[in-house]
Amino acid sequence: MANRNLKQTAVFAAMICLSTLAVVALAARDASAAKPDAGTPNILFIVADDMGYADCGVQGCRDIPTPNLDALAAAGVRFTSGYVTGTVCSPSRAALMTGRYHQRDGIADWIPPGKPGLNAGVPTVADYLRKANYRTALVGKWHLGEQDQCNPLNRGFDEFFGFLGGGRNYWPDPLKAAQAKVNHYTQLVRGHEPVQENEYTTHAFGREAVKFLKSRCGKAQPFFLYLAFNAVHTPMQAPDDYLQRFTSIKDKNRRTYAGMLSAMDDAVGWVLEAVRENGMEENTLICFISDNGGPITRNAPNASRNTPLRGGKGETWEGGIRVPFFMKWTGHLNAGTTFTQPVIQMDLTATVLALAAQGVDSKWRIDGVNLMPFLTGSQDTPHESLCWEYGQQWAIRQGQWKLTFALPSKTAKTPTLGLYDLSQDIGESRDLSLTQPERVKQLQAAWASWRKSVGGDLPAPKVTLKGINNTP
Ligand code: CA
Repeated sequence: MANRNLKQTAVFAAMICLSTLAVVALAARDASAAKPDAGTPNILFIVADDMGYADCGVQGCRDIPTPNLDALAAAGVRFTSGYVTGTVCSPSRAALMTGRYHQRDGIADWIPPGKPGLNAGVPTVADYLRKANYRTALVGKWHLGEQDQCNPLNRGFDEFFGFLGGGRNYWPDPLKAAQAKVNHYTQLVRGHEPVQENEYTTHAFGREAVKFLKSRCGKAQPFFLYLAFNAVHTPMQAPDDYLQRFTSIKDKNRRTYAGMLSAMDDAVGWVLEAVRENGMEENTLICFISDNGGPITRNAPNASRNTPLRGGKGETWEGGIRVPFFMKWTGHLNAGTTFTQPVIQMDLTATVLALAAQGVDSKWRIDGVNLMPFLTGSQDTPHESLCWEYGQQWAIRQGQWKLTFALPSKTAKTPTLGLYDLSQDIGESRDLSLTQPERVKQLQAAWASWRKSVGGDLPAPKVTLKGINNTP
């Protein structure tokens, strides 16, 4: 297999400013036209919650061993510029499910209890894969709506063990005797039925994922398993035996975080072992991401780290949107490789739909790009541009250039406009906007074009590009 693109070391080619619509069209074509060249694989998505960019060994973490995540990354492709569309849970998970910028479907922020969920009309990756004869299962956190029409069992999943909301206690809750008392946001359920769980939930989700994998052993029908942890989101709760692993970490929150992360890493290890033991390695594509960057100082801070990135969860700085991002497919993707070009979680959706030879409904065109041609060396650049918007912040990346803009907020009292060369300045510390006004103008226009194209049901952003003074 050709490998020339997988060992890229640095520089992005000079970028041409293509219209966003052209990029969208290319993405949709890739996702719908590609044929699998190696059979139709099983699909396993593993998603961590609020895990920082620097919170596993292969990403530079030194105080918390993550042997299983490291092994997953080492056995396949590690994307060093792997992004998510959302800076918080629901938008990111929506775009993973649909392959579309979440703005298209009206998901602007995390979904609180009782609020509307994901647009019931838009197909999910589970809908598509079930149509392609996959057995589909969700284990873990949904956070795309509690209403019946949003329930995973009505959104393409054959099986569901987990909870519908955005966060919950990691320890078992007593099962409420009266159905009326059930908190539908946090209650653990199997299908529609509340269950009494007795394990730390991270371990329970690992156990249920393994059970599902074993149930598929020997079956001709392929499977799609979406293992969506709520680890390592707050509340800060780790089992005592895991805390004992990290007595050398003096900061209490970091020690608890280490225990939570280590428990998740173990659960990932059980799942990888189950894939191996059941002879599924060569026909199972495994993808791992965190749903957004680590919350450093606000948005439920959990002692995660995004080093050397700036910012964190809830921000369009790199620390909020660039995440650990791995893909493994034994025998089909070269082990130990690094891919440096920008990719985004919607690409995982497009990739698996292409591998399943499952076309996409033209009404619900997707923004993700099938990554396989890029990973096997026949194409170079998955995206000419990637764009973000959260509240009154926005950003665009084209090649090594990133333009950010933020209106005043609780943490930034003045508007900020910044241009950064990520190839030299991954920490977004040296603003070059004053020296490159033409590039600023071009990137502003590209972002505005994107915003118009994804409009959805969201209100127009309250952003005025003119008259903003740059700040040091
Ligand atoms: Ca999250």
